Amino acid sequence: MPEPFATLGLTFDDVLLQPSESDIIPSQVRTESRVSKRISVKVPLVSSPMDTVTEARMAVAIARQGGLGIIHRNLSIEDQAHQVDVVKRSEAGMVDEPITIAPDATIGEADAMCGRFRISGVPVVDRDMTLLGIVTNRDMRFESDPARLVGDVMTKMPLVTGPVGISGEDAMSLLAAHKIEKLPLVDERGRLKGLITLKDFVKSDQYPDASKDDQGRLRVGAAVGFFGDAWKRAMSLIEEGVDLLVVDTAHGHSQGVIDMVRRLKAEKAAADVDVVGGNVATYAGAKALVEAGVDGVKVGVGPGSICTTRVVAGVGVPQVTAIHNASRACRPAGVPLIGDGGLQYSGDIAKALVAGADTVMLGSLLAGCDESPGELMFLNGKQFKSYRGMGSMGAMASRGRSASYSKDRYFQGDVTSDSQLIAEGIEGQVPYRGPLAAVAYQLVGGLRQSMFYTGAATIPELQERGSFVRITSAGLRESHPHDIQMTVEAPNYAG
Ligand code: 5GP
Repeated sequence: MPEPFATLGLTFDDVLLQPSESDIIPSQVRTESRVSKRISVKVPLVSSPMDTVTEARMAVAIARQGGLGIIHRNLSIEDQAHQVDVVKRSEAGMVDEPITIAPDATIGEADAMCGRFRISGVPVVDRDMTLLGIVTNRDMRFESDPARLVGDVMTKMPLVTGPVGISGEDAMSLLAAHKIEKLPLVDERGRLKGLITLKDFVKSDQYPDASKDDQGRLRVGAAVGFFGDAWKRAMSLIEEGVDLLVVDTAHGHSQGVIDMVRRLKAEKAAADVDVVGGNVATYAGAKALVEAGVDGVKVGVGPGSICTTRVVAGVGVPQVTAIHNASRACRPAGVPLIGDGGLQYSGDIAKALVAGADTVMLGSLLAGCDESPGELMFLNGKQFKSYRGMGSMGAMASRGRSASYSKDRYFQGDVTSDSQLIAEGIEGQVPYRGPLAAVAYQLVGGLRQSMFYTGAATIPELQERGSFVRITSAGLRESHPHDIQMTVEAPNYAG
């Protein structure tokens, strides 16, 4: 039997990166990396599939900054698929199946539709998709009667339209020449085939790093499990155009997860979608997922800020060691690794990458952003947002008549009564942090500084050149501000 206490587990606070010779400055480094085999990102940040972190708004915001959002699965299949749809429609080069409305719908309905999809106008079509007109906020703004029909208030054909397959440049010229914001694309018989909007061109300029698919739409991932109707969920998400499915459970080194990964990888409908499996925390766990054919491995058992698995079950591996061990299985197979959970500061990003991750997944660091679900709360004059573990009682308990979907993340999908659930997480609040763009800027800025100190121009170079030094509790104390009463917090450091 191997010596039982020979294995040492280290986490972010146990290590520092050693400075080494550098001939670059922070603004020159490149932070591209891969989330999965086919999905590259300009910044290695992924937002966690948690119901207080990632729905469509966060997914749009983080994809615009060059990262990727994973929509949580504590939603009905329809609601989660809708969240994916909203992201895919939010900034498209061309929308190929635009939302449409019939002329006999009311403007109240049109208005509600615009709100639901966050759009400013809808093409009006008849039953065989012939374009009849367009109804926009401008047409509706001065109407006081919501029962009026769309056909009566819309701007009728002839409208300025473009042919299917029009180039971006030609579309822009048409929009500019006619001072319009939406260009419906029609075939030779006048049937609606797509829509191009000015907003999308403006956004492309504004967010040059945005993570986009080959049709110019923002990328988005979504979490699924393996229990119950998980397969149906996965298929619905694929239908809405999801880029990445994450088989997201608390214990990815288990038959149910491996079978789900295998089945997804064998499914024709999923051929264009990458599949990540997780979570694991060992070499053997990562290896099992790699052998099942995953396109990415998610690593982390118990490091999360809201997580109690390590005390409730006494199970887990400190995160730097977990990433390092899992990467020994992933790296030779060319499978990217997502380091999930436990990051408290921007410096932890580079530590995770040097340990062997390709991207990091963030929960608590993003839960306080404007774009995360939930309202702002005031407590003693300070602003907070709620943040809870997906294994907390609040997230796992049934809500109203609808069952909770997050309990099967903890393999308790068969538990029928809330009182029999075993919680593996807690509920709380985190300081409000403002818009994601500002938070991401600080996080990526910290990573750029790490790369400068280690002399790494790219993430692969950082992974190769970075070397750790183990520290003691005295070293950790020295690392943080000490022997001073902090009077002003920095945007990336609070006491
Ligand atoms: P954080 O960034 O807050 O440190 O960690 C977020 C990660 O914790 C998530 O991405 C997820 O993997 C994990 N997690 C989320 N909720 C729970 C929970 O209730 N229990 C456990 N064990 N892990 C959780």
